[in-house]
Amino acid sequence: MFRLPALLLACAALLRSADADLILHNGKIVTVDGRFGIQQAVAVKSGTIVAVGPDGPVLKAERGPKTEVIDLHGRTVLPGLVDAHVHAFEAGLSEYRGPLPPFDSFAAVQAYIRRQAAKTPEGAWIVVPRTFPTRLKEMRMPTRDLLDFERDHPVLFDLSYVVVLNSVALKQCGIDRNTPNPPGGEIVKDAQGEPNGVLKNAESLVKGLDRAEHFTETEKLDALEQQLKRYVAAGLTTVGDRAVNAEQISLYQKLKAAGRLPIRAVLTWRPDGSQPAAALQQQIEAAPYTTNTGDSWLKFGTFKLTLDGGMTIGTAYQRFPYGAFGKQLYGKTDPDDRGQLFIPPDKLLAVMRTARNRGWQLTTHDQGGGAVDTFLDTLEALDREKPIAPTRSHLMHASFQSPEAIARMKKMGVLADVQSAWLYLDAPALEQVFGYDGMRWFYPLRSYIDAGIIVAAGSDHMIGHDKNAAVNPYNPLLSMWTEVTRLTNRGKVIHPEQKISRPEALKTHTIWAAWLQFADKERGSIEPGKFADLVVIDRDYLTCPEEQIKDIQPVMTILNGRIVYRAQ
Ligand SMILES: [Zn+2]
Repeated sequence: MFRLPALLLACAALLRSADADLILHNGKIVTVDGRFGIQQAVAVKSGTIVAVGPDGPVLKAERGPKTEVIDLHGRTVLPGLVDAHVHAFEAGLSEYRGPLPPFDSFAAVQAYIRRQAAKTPEGAWIVVPRTFPTRLKEMRMPTRDLLDFERDHPVLFDLSYVVVLNSVALKQCGIDRNTPNPPGGEIVKDAQGEPNGVLKNAESLVKGLDRAEHFTETEKLDALEQQLKRYVAAGLTTVGDRAVNAEQISLYQKLKAAGRLPIRAVLTWRPDGSQPAAALQQQIEAAPYTTNTGDSWLKFGTFKLTLDGGMTIGTAYQRFPYGAFGKQLYGKTDPDDRGQLFIPPDKLLAVMRTARNRGWQLTTHDQGGGAVDTFLDTLEALDREKPIAPTRSHLMHASFQSPEAIARMKKMGVLADVQSAWLYLDAPALEQVFGYDGMRWFYPLRSYIDAGIIVAAGSDHMIGHDKNAAVNPYNPLLSMWTEVTRLTNRGKVIHPEQKISRPEALKTHTIWAAWLQFADKERGSIEPGKFADLVVIDRDYLTCPEEQIKDIQPVMTILNGRIVYRAQ
């Protein structure tokens, strides 16, 4: 990188008193600046980076009597990492009352039910919290047979918008072969026409179960704050919280007002998209915020609607049917089923136009290719009225891409919010559904970058506190490792031609994510004038053996110039 000559640094020091608050030196500072320069030292004052360069000049020019000087002993420093996509509040509450085991096999689910049965009064509900069929070792949608060993309690197994009941629960809810499907939902039947326990978008039929865990506001604030602190311990200094409602906005504002906000947060507002267009438009007009309302600690980012379902449950709206394996994995009854589009295109366009004109950056949850194409149609219509590129609008997930869609993104300047760890966790099951060829455009990061499309990476963390075991894991090094290797948790490389380099993977969690958040001028790289958001790590990210990238641990997280986390 361009090195500031010592003389220039010295001159700068004369104009300013040489008393940095903090200097890190004798390290490998991966700046992620325009030239991807590597430096030895970084100096910080009043929360801002004031110098980056070789040890000698930085120490000479910036060290004062009160400066805290840390010898890195050769350790690597990265810009503070960004997770562009979390659900912090939901995740924080998920294990607030106690830890959950991983639900990764039928046996794990049954063991959990047995443990719960032993401490649950007879007749009371047992709920197995949310998991996805793609994450189960068996790669098969369970039915009531899996749960019928339990005869004293009604059991509900939550597979996200799909629930499975045991026979006790079906009976208690009065669901039998003659029960009509609720609007938009399905009671799945076996070959004999009897309910097999699977209810799709039909949880309204479940009677006598109060699933809401009741938390006081003090507990909610605590749960959110603790989760945000766990992000900091994972090396993150900014998160994008990607579906906040009025309650969550207020919790964030209260934490900030009380001086308890441990991380920078950019909020994506997602109103309930099932409301009529006019009601949504009215809400958008009335909301006292839009993109960039707020400050560098807490601000609004994106306006979001949820356009389709999920690939982990077979409701993502695809360009083609889920086919035969979809029947096994998702319990589908119609082999031609392509998933669900929740918002008709004309309504989507009308609402998005209102949001754009109100100053919002736009996104939809668009996981299947059909949803990707639908949202791109919307953006194209808006782009014809007024260029969309300046809004930095983006696809969210876009798990099933196509060359045509990528070309449209490039043409309009549309960005991508990607979940790389899904390749690690879900590709083995999805490959069974779509075939290896059908995975050709699954998170095609190489193609995005080659097309000049900005890629911001995020975990979609929603359940669990552990950074590696959570659904979805929020360890940013695991995400970067996946982007570099394209390895699944079963050890297979999925389309190696879509691998990206280590510097590129780092950018998806730093400067490019900051770009998506309209914050690339103030953070995302280690350069003078930017906020001093840094993470010191225990290995050299750029040169350590590839398989170790996911195991890299933060040693210290620095946020706005303050050391906010130190490894024990
Ligand atoms: Zn999400």
